[in-house]
Amino acid sequence: MALQDLLALIYPTTCLLCNSAGVTLCPTCEIRLESCRQSYLLHGFTLYSSLHYNEAAANLILAAKESNERAAARYLAELMAMRFGRAHRELSYARYLLIPIPSSKAADKRRGYQHMVLLARLVAKKITIDHGVECSVAPVLVPARKIADQSGLNAAARLANMRGAFELKAGVDLRGAGIILIDDLVTTGSTMGEALRALKMGRYEPDALLSACVAGRFLANKIGR
Ligand SMILES: [Zn+2]
Repeated sequence: MALQDLLALIYPTTCLLCNSAGVTLCPTCEIRLESCRQSYLLHGFTLYSSLHYNEAAANLILAAKESNERAAARYLAELMAMRFGRAHRELSYARYLLIPIPSSKAADKRRGYQHMVLLARLVAKKITIDHGVECSVAPVLVPARKIADQSGLNAAARLANMRGAFELKAGVDLRGAGIILIDDLVTTGSTMGEALRALKMGRYEPDALLSACVAGRFLANKIGR
């Protein structure tokens, strides 16, 4: 028996998006994912993103976020670690800290896990292996108050919902490493903006922004590959 068949017996796999058997992501579904090769200028910082937002990307993110589907999270982490390579070529730090964007306390409680912390850990592990740099997760941003779910809000309401929503934990020391703010999805950029504000309160700035997916229609500021 081939190793692949044996593994399939022990860990039966189905496509994350259409449930067809045998693979984590079948070729039909994989082709629906649209790689993002340009970077964007968001609030003055470079955003690197792995995928453009579409239905397939949204379903993959939802599987990782809401269903704690580890295979989906690992797949996203793989793509993000690959995209990180582009940022690393520009930045060339020996050590990086990934700062995950926090969810609301209510969302963490409902899910029973901190989605972005888990995803960031997978990304950090993959970055360490693939790029030969030291990379760890620093969950130093926390919700400062109640935050409504952003998904049903328009751009103006998102901005208002996010204003003053995060704070930097007291006494954190982020010196000596490249700082990467990391999120699963960037749409209007209001959440990243709030994270930047909270970081700046501690006199820190990120060296780059990294997301699994970007809704590029909101971000006109393409700055190259
Ligand atoms: Zn499929």
